[in-house]
Amino acid sequence: MKTVTETFGSMVFDDRVMKATLSAEVYSSLRKTIDEGAALDPGVANAVATAMKEWAVSKGATHFTHWFQPLTGITAEKHESFIAPSPDGGVIMEFSGKELIKGEPDASSFPSGGLRATFEARGYTAWDPTSYAFIKGKTLCIPTAFCSYGGHALDKKTPLLRSMEALNRQALRILRLFGNTTAKYVRSSVGPEQEYFLISKEMYDARPDLRFTGRTLFGAKPPKGQEMDDHYFGALKPKVAAFMEELNVELWKLGIMAKTEHNEVAPAQHELAPIYTTTNIATDHNQLTMEIMQKVASRNGLVCLLHEKPFAGVNGSGKHNNWSISTNEGQNLLSPGETPYENAQFLLFLCAVIKAVDDYQDLLRISVATAGNDHRLGANEAPPAVISMFLGDELNAVLEAIENDTPYKGAEKTQMKLGVDVLPKFNRDTTDRNRTSPFAFTGNKFEFRMLGSSNSIACANIMLNSAVAESLKVYADRLEGAQDFETVLHDMIKKTIKDHRRIIFNGNGYDDSWIKEATEVRGLLNYRTTADCMPHLLDRKNVDMLTSHKVFSLEELQSRCEIMLENYCKSVTIEANTMIDMVKTQIAPAIAAFAADTAKNAQAKKALDPSVACEYETGLVRKLSALTDCIAIKVDELQDVVMSLQDADDIISESEMIRDKVLPKMSELRVACDEAETRTSKDYWPFPTYEDILFSVR
Ligand code: ADP
Ligand code: MG
Repeated sequence: MKTVTETFGSMVFDDRVMKATLSAEVYSSLRKTIDEGAALDPGVANAVATAMKEWAVSKGATHFTHWFQPLTGITAEKHESFIAPSPDGGVIMEFSGKELIKGEPDASSFPSGGLRATFEARGYTAWDPTSYAFIKGKTLCIPTAFCSYGGHALDKKTPLLRSMEALNRQALRILRLFGNTTAKYVRSSVGPEQEYFLISKEMYDARPDLRFTGRTLFGAKPPKGQEMDDHYFGALKPKVAAFMEELNVELWKLGIMAKTEHNEVAPAQHELAPIYTTTNIATDHNQLTMEIMQKVASRNGLVCLLHEKPFAGVNGSGKHNNWSISTNEGQNLLSPGETPYENAQFLLFLCAVIKAVDDYQDLLRISVATAGNDHRLGANEAPPAVISMFLGDELNAVLEAIENDTPYKGAEKTQMKLGVDVLPKFNRDTTDRNRTSPFAFTGNKFEFRMLGSSNSIACANIMLNSAVAESLKVYADRLEGAQDFETVLHDMIKKTIKDHRRIIFNGNGYDDSWIKEATEVRGLLNYRTTADCMPHLLDRKNVDMLTSHKVFSLEELQSRCEIMLENYCKSVTIEANTMIDMVKTQIAPAIAAFAADTAKNAQAKKALDPSVACEYETGLVRKLSALTDCIAIKVDELQDVVMSLQDADDIISESEMIRDKVLPKMSELRVACDEAETRTSKDYWPFPTYEDILFSVR
């Protein structure tokens, strides 16, 4: 049996393989491209392609694909075999530099939001050499970006790479101002904690709602849910342990550093966290992780649910995006330093994040907005839809001292001047986690907790990187022209704290009084749904910021806004139609059958003894009839509002109709059906209940 260190990364064309298979010249040229973005020489590309192919073939690969992340939110691939005819009638395995660098999938069916005219509908994929190629099944997968021939990004990776470049550019300017002449680049890193549910495949197959929408659209609360908190960190059930073990092996082979795994709060809910890595690689890895989770589950007779809210009344699943920025020399710019200068630099980067989160609350909210995640945000389990930041008591006290020119409690009794005086040593606040904060500082990184479990982490990090790049740009513009660096620096930090104090909140984010204070006193944004927030993507300030850093063009933003709203409308419409179908063909007939049989039983009893009252049966039949009548009305009403969507003038008004008409009708229908479930014999209920599903895996 091979050890983990032997198999780790065995399916990845990583640095070790590159060193072993490329000539010294080719290797160093490729390294320059990976590390510094230097242009790739065609000769080098050919040599790399040949080495990659030989390595892949030796591992049993027969095909290759450009692997990309279109705006559907999942990954796409189109396999092509390596074979080429040889003169003797046989085949040889071929793969050229050209095929490595650029691909032309016939991918015209991916959403483009009008970015591709039909004559250029194909779009092309371009190799991202910073993310290693890997083998999945029998296919060599080459991570790529996906663009139209007009140069518009049709994927999530292109803007992510651009946002990383924007952050790099601005952060380097700041580092130079602080006297750092050696750092070559700055990159953001991410460790995403992934939550998911595991349920039995048999239960899943029996529920049309789970199969079509990924979540249950009906289901009365089981007698036992998560009240006891006995699942959280509990011992793993054998089937779950087997799943996790197999998952780890698969992920490790792909060089994904799956590190921690445990049971989560809800029954059947679990979490996996990898060791953090560069943002674009972390994004690729998270997409792969989600894919492989589903595959491994299926091999084990299970289904992995990645929906944000598969079960009402039970915690939903999110993704915590742990984010930091560091130099190629390994300096974490969000880590408090040792010297006055390092500390001042840390505070400046910290302030850049504070300013970014306050100025671009809307973009962060937008970056996590989907129909599924709307059910989670603000549902007393996940952070609210209002964005605020948690810094911890100590750091908060430091900022207060700076803002008010008062001495910090732990320091000498003098006021501090940043960059000159030694800042008091404050302990990294890693113990107090304040789980309710959407955006928490956890010692040397920020944890953005609003992402939904099925979201690509690309969107959140694009916005985060860009917004922080913008703060840094504002700072660098001022500091580069400053006569007295220390004074300007001090004043700027002080001003940021004053101007953006409203975004800092250290209390309980789940509290209703917080939402009131946040919106009414502090003026923070509260966009409760996707329909509320998405149109603000095109607000002037957002377009200006994102286009000025060349992360998106205006056309790209317009197309994304449209696609996201379309996704929202489509997802909810599919849910509504699934509900209608389930009610008409399963739920209503089941209740009616049970009521009819109950009535028959009463009749039989009366035939035996006319004096029996049959109060139980009569009452039940009456109640069930009332419920089926109510359900019949509600289902018709829902059908009508779904039909009326056709009258919407544009996607914005359609999304508003979804929010204001369709979703409320769906929940009314559900309430009636769930009540009927609690009154109908289990023998008649047409699909597994919450109890069956949530406790189905042993
Ligand atoms: P938890 O939040 O569950 O207590 P940790 O905070 O230790 O766990 O780690 C959560 C995730 O944060 C992991 O994926 C970890 O690799 C990542 N992480 C740790 N340090 C950093 C950092 N400096 N930058 C980005 N991510 C980090
Ligand atoms: Mg965490």
